[in-house]
Order: sequence, then C-alpha cells, then structure tokens
Amino acid sequence: MRGGAALALVLAAASASAAASQAPSSRRVEVSRDLTVVQADGAISVEARPLDGETPIEFAARISANEETAREILALPGGPSRERAVVVPYAALADEMKRAAVVALFPSDVRATAGWLHIAVGDESLASVAGWFTGRPELAGALAAENGLEGNSVAKGTTVRVPAEFLLRPFRDAEALDESEPPQLVFGEDAGGRYAMYRLRKKEALYSAVVVRFTGRVHAPDVIELAGAIAKRSGIEDVHAIPVGYPVKIPLDVLAEEFLPADDPRSKARALERAETAQFSIPARARGLKGVRIVLDPGHGGRDTGTIHGGLWESAYVYDVAVRLRKVLSEKTQAEVVMTTKDSRLGWNVSERDVLAPRRTQVLLTDPPYELEDPVLGVNLRWYLANSLLKRPGPERKRIPPERTVFVSLHADSLHPSLRGAMIYVPGERFLRDRYGKRGGAFAPYREWREQPVVSFSRKERIASEGASTSLAGKLVGAMRRRDLTVHPFSPVRTHVIRSGREWVPAVLRYNLIPNRVLVEIANLANEEDRALVATRRFRQEVAAALAEGLVEFFGGELAPSAPPPAVAAAATALDAQEVYGPADFVGPWPRAASAKPSSGKKPAAKKPVTKPKPKRPAPRG
Ligand SMILES: [Zn+2]
Repeated sequence: MRGGAALALVLAAASASAAASQAPSSRRVEVSRDLTVVQADGAISVEARPLDGETPIEFAARISANEETAREILALPGGPSRERAVVVPYAALADEMKRAAVVALFPSDVRATAGWLHIAVGDESLASVAGWFTGRPELAGALAAENGLEGNSVAKGTTVRVPAEFLLRPFRDAEALDESEPPQLVFGEDAGGRYAMYRLRKKEALYSAVVVRFTGRVHAPDVIELAGAIAKRSGIEDVHAIPVGYPVKIPLDVLAEEFLPADDPRSKARALERAETAQFSIPARARGLKGVRIVLDPGHGGRDTGTIHGGLWESAYVYDVAVRLRKVLSEKTQAEVVMTTKDSRLGWNVSERDVLAPRRTQVLLTDPPYELEDPVLGVNLRWYLANSLLKRPGPERKRIPPERTVFVSLHADSLHPSLRGAMIYVPGERFLRDRYGKRGGAFAPYREWREQPVVSFSRKERIASEGASTSLAGKLVGAMRRRDLTVHPFSPVRTHVIRSGREWVPAVLRYNLIPNRVLVEIANLANEEDRALVATRRFRQEVAAALAEGLVEFFGGELAPSAPPPAVAAAATALDAQEVYGPADFVGPWPRAASAKPSSGKKPAAKKPVTKPKPKRPAPRG
C-alpha cells in the first residue's frame, strides 16, 4: 500500500471544495464542522481541520498514516488551521480516520464475526471496495469469488463480505456484532402519532423483549411505567397474556436511537457522532500495559454502601472485584495500578470468602483521606482524585501521557429484576459540559479540589473520550463474553443513563479528565441469578480476569490466561512504584497500619511471591 508516489495532498478552503461534490457519482458527508468525508468516482478522501484545542502538529500526527504524510501536511503552504481544511486521500489516512470515513459514508456496514459486511450505497467497483477495506485493490477477484459476484461492479444495496483475514487493522479490530437475527420493526403513524410496530415472538415478554430492548429503559419503575403506556397504546389489556404475533406499538419518541428509521433526525445525528468519535477509537499501543496507569475505582464504600439486595452490599462486592483485578494486573502485566479506595482493615488483600461481610471500613484515598460518609461528596471527590492522578508522575518520575491512563469504576446494578448481566457506561460526548466545578465548602480541605477546582473540556477531548472509551468498553465486553460471563443482551455499552425521563452520564465519568474511562456494572443485584453468582469468589475472579484481558487488548496486546506470571522482581517493582507514587502517598497512617499487618497470620506464608516486603518509606506529606 506504500506505493511511494507523492500523495495528492491539497490545501482547500472549506468552501472551495464544493467543486468535488459536482463530480458525477460523488457524495459528501459532513461529519462535523471539522471533518467532511467525500466519495467521488470510487475514491475516498477527507477534508479535515484541527479540532478546537488541537495544535497543527497534533492534528497532522492524528490523521496521517505515517510521519511522512504528517510532514507533508505541515509543509503545505499556510499549514492546517481552524480556518483551512486539508484534503487527504484515503490511503494516506491513519487507521482511525479510515474507520471514521467508512462509518460516515457507509453507516449500515457491520463488523460480523465472518468479516466486514459492506453494503454498497451506490454503484461501486469491487476494486474500490477491496482498496477501502483491505488496502489491496487487486483482491477484487478474491472478493468476487467469495461473494459469488461477476465482473467488477457492485450494484447499489449489494452486500459484500470482506473476510476477516483480508481486513485492514481498523476493520479487523472492530468489535464483531453477534449475528442473531435483527428485530423487525415496522414504522407507521396513527391518531396517537408515529410509532414502531413489533410483533411479539414465542416466549417474549413485553418488559424485556420490547421495553428494555427498544427503549433503553432498564430501571424497574421506568420499565413498568413505559410497559403500561405501550400496552395501553397497543390495546393490550393484560400484559401477562399477550398472544404471539400481537402488534405492539412503541411511540417513536421513546424508541432508542439505534432503532429509529434512517431518515429520523435523531438517528442521523447519532450516526454522525459515531463517525466523529471513531476517529479516536484506537488507542496508544502498550504491550503488556507497560507505561500504562490504571486507576481502579471501587464505586462505593464506607457509609456509602451502594445498592443492597438480599443482604449483599454493592460496596463490599465491587471492592472485592477491584482488589482481584489489581492483583491480576500486578502479576500479569506491567501496568501501574492505582486504587481510589482502601479498606483500612483488609487493605488490598483478596478475601477467601464467597459471601462477604458488610463493612464500612473503606476510605477514599484523597489527601486527606475521606471516610466516605456522604455518597455525593464521595462521588465528586472521586473525579477530583482522578483528575489529580492524571498529573502525577509515574514510576521513576516519568510522565504518563493521558492516552495511557485508564479509569475503571466498578459497580453492580439495581435494575428491573428481569435483566441480567454486565453493562458498561462511557462518557457520551453530548452529555458532557464545557466547564464544571464545585464551590469550596466541604471540598476545600482536599488537595485534589485545590489543585483544580474547575474542569473544562475542549470539544476534541469530549469526542476523543467517547471514542476511546467506547472502544475500551467493546474490548471489556468481548473479553467477558469469551469467558461466558453474562452481558446485558441489548446494547451493553451505553453513552448515558436513561432514568425517570432524564438522560445523563454518571458524574464519576462526566467530570473526569482521564480520556479512557468506563463505569462497569458487573451484574444486576436485583436479579436473583446474578446475585447468586456475585456471591461466589469464582465469578468475581472471572470478572476480574476478563477485565484485565480487555484492558491488555485495548492497548494492542494479548493476555494469555494461562501464561506464567512474569518474573517476581518485575511485579514487585511495579507494586513498589504504586506504593510510592499512587495516592497511597497521601493517606497518612491508613495504609501503613493496614499493610503492615500480615492479615492476622491466617496464611502461614506459602511459597507465594510476597509483594510488599520492603520497609515503607515515609510519606512525603502529612
Ligand atoms: Zn453503584
């Protein structure tokens, strides 16, 4: 693909490029103010400008396939700027940009397990299709054979399957959708307004098959209320006795975006948002998580118990998953793991019990530590802590770039009891504010607040974090599925919470500046089967192992589940580094008291790599 010929880079004023759109068979998709994708006569190019908050150098590096192209872009007369777009041909684009261009031009394309399914939007040539997805137009013949097509032309609406082994990285790496039959919705309008009609199949219930699946509602009161409204609108008298095939009418205004008809403005807006965030879907490469900092946030603790069902406290169980994940990462990767909370009695030791006793002894590791008395203050201090960590140096005082920093908040859900499985929230760009901050008051004593009381996000940061976090969430979900852990059956990765008629991003993600950030709901504690699983060590260990695998994969690596742990020395170094530079620095007597105790002598030192043999150095502050 590196033909060596000079790339046809052109600087174009945004308005002058209209000429391109007059060519026959050309399409322009304006993804945002800063990105337009053009397809003309089989060739794809993008017109791009630096985003608000992005320097020309960052911009050139981001969109270019290689340094040579980046240099050419910067050398263009006048250079790229907020006022001048650069036109870059497809082959010269970075992987992320190729993916963004394809998502914009071909929104119906899917990554299936069998490869990439491309649906022609006009009359296309097989050589172009091969070029776009494999980088090798000469594979046209192979694609023709694969798809039973004759000649080089592909008629509009034809599906071309590009086998996975031929795909360019951005398409090969895209998370495959499972290929269960897509639901059939029929759109119509009656006196009550526009609706989507769905016919119930055997064994399907209104709550799960319709409300949860098509409207995105998951909280019990919302599900029940909306099921009532939909039943009424559809003329259903008894929601427990709906005949198979009965037409259920879902009002269009409650339909989740992904099911809206393609011409609906909401669905168009969402498609463009996806194309825009796809530019940032591929993160930095870091084999074995070297140079990566992972901030693990057990989402509750102290007086903030989280949800309680059947005697299980969310705080106790998510803490347990966090310490297990910390252990896996410390033993199998080179990541620097930083915990946001610590149990003042148990420390970060992994418990040997299935059922965990309720305890209120976790503290948030701010400076000074916070005993998590008030959940709201706690949640806000969590993101202040995350933002502060983003600026602290890593092991050996090295700077850790934001792209190599990850924030994982662990929770367990309390949803409609019919629902099972894990779900992951990412920060939806539309739901982030430009500027946010808390007034002093209760926050004033904390160093993290004083360092940066107000946060603000550039548009680039908002888009980039949705793209990168969505990609991370996809890897985590994929790893969970591979380990046969139950994942929410419909849209397990979500950009926002819908509850009581409002939509938002959880606060711990909303004001958090760490670009790769997710909130993982490990299971639904309101569901009996999920609850029984959560109350086993085995399940919690599997979740931790899956999350570790997903994290490694996100940075381009692979974590062999049965691989022997790396040399003890390496693991110990990583751990020492955490102890020195992590928030543990700032917790005064807490961690020392906890970690100095050899867990009441229960384990008579089996031949196990002891990870904290060193005398603690004095905390630098306090
Ligand atoms: Zn929670």
